[in-house]
Amino acid sequence: MTTQTAKLAEALRARCRDVREAELLRKHVTFRIGGPADILLVPRSIDELRAVAGYLFSERLPFVVLGAGSNALISDAGIRGIVIKIGKGLDRIAYEDETIIAEAGVGLPHLAREAATRGLSGLEFAAGIPASVGGAAVMNAGAHGHAMQEIVRSVRAVMSAGETVFDSPALQYGYRTSILQREPAVVLEVTLRLTAADPASVRRRTDEWLRHRGETQPIGPPSSGCVFRNPVADHAGRLIDLAGAKGLAVGGARVSELHANYILNTGEATAADVVGLMNKVSALVMEKCGKRLEPEIKFLGEFPEQQR
Ligand SMILES: Cc1cc2nc3c(=O)[nH]c(=O)nc-3n(C[C@H](O)[C@H](O)[C@H](O)COP(=O)(O)OP(=O)(O)OC[C@H]3O[C@@H](n4cnc5c(N)ncnc54)[C@H](O)[C@@H]3O)c2cc1C
Repeated sequence: MTTQTAKLAEALRARCRDVREAELLRKHVTFRIGGPADILLVPRSIDELRAVAGYLFSERLPFVVLGAGSNALISDAGIRGIVIKIGKGLDRIAYEDETIIAEAGVGLPHLAREAATRGLSGLEFAAGIPASVGGAAVMNAGAHGHAMQEIVRSVRAVMSAGETVFDSPALQYGYRTSILQREPAVVLEVTLRLTAADPASVRRRTDEWLRHRGETQPIGPPSSGCVFRNPVADHAGRLIDLAGAKGLAVGGARVSELHANYILNTGEATAADVVGLMNKVSALVMEKCGKRLEPEIKFLGEFPEQQR
């Protein structure tokens, strides 16, 4: 720990009670992979999150934001600098008729369940996506032919220019993309607009899609979900299967037999294993199918030994 890091941690403690030094990030991501962050900030309220985000932008200090960590591959060396973890404590939900205002750390499956109970339709697709609402809004998470962009009305975020409310067109949503991936942003809360419906039918659809997911995707072992983006009018999983890469392994990382676009951490996988396996899979798909695969997961930290 350098004196500089210790000093910075002290300055941050004035704004956020939970500041951890040399915190292992594998504890904070679904892949269970990744080294330490120099400083991990765990804000417990919107006010704390606002205060740290404002401070980091005003001091021009670079940082990385983690939501539920379900789409993140953290490097084995970890992240030099500051990481903000958005989860517990940032999980208040306000309901007003068909409008929901959810803080960024709300768990998406929890929100989908609550919406179903209240007879609000639109989040059924999201019940099996282990995201935070903030991360899902940033990623435009989607499944079963639906995506966040259909229900997000606005997003409140701290940007370098200050606190900003983006309405839906301003978010520039596309397949798994939004403007929030293109410039540093800290999402505070997301406003969703759902549709009133019969609670039983919303629950039925939610359960059906969850069952289908359970049958077609490996939801048990640690993973980051689909690692590659689907090419236009095709499925990365289909191409990986066609290229014969199901079951392929590098170290502790293995391509799922159930869904070929999932890489599983079978126990002791490193980030280098995952990147090595992704490179092998991409090369096979290029060789056998002539298609280039692009990563969907976010690489956080430095990956010096491999090309991503
Ligand atoms: C088992 C499993 C199944 C999955 N199924 C699906 C699926 O069906 N569909 C799908 O789209 N995805 C799926 N995913 C991937 C993942 O859940 C989504 O990409 C999700 O949107 C990531 O949300 P998160 O909160 O975990 O974000 P993280 O993984 O923590 O972060 C993802 C990106 O968003 C940024 N970010 C997160 N929170 C904030 C915030 N508050 N402010 C600013 N930036 C932020 C991060 O910096 C990072 O760039 C799955 C993952 C797993 C493990």
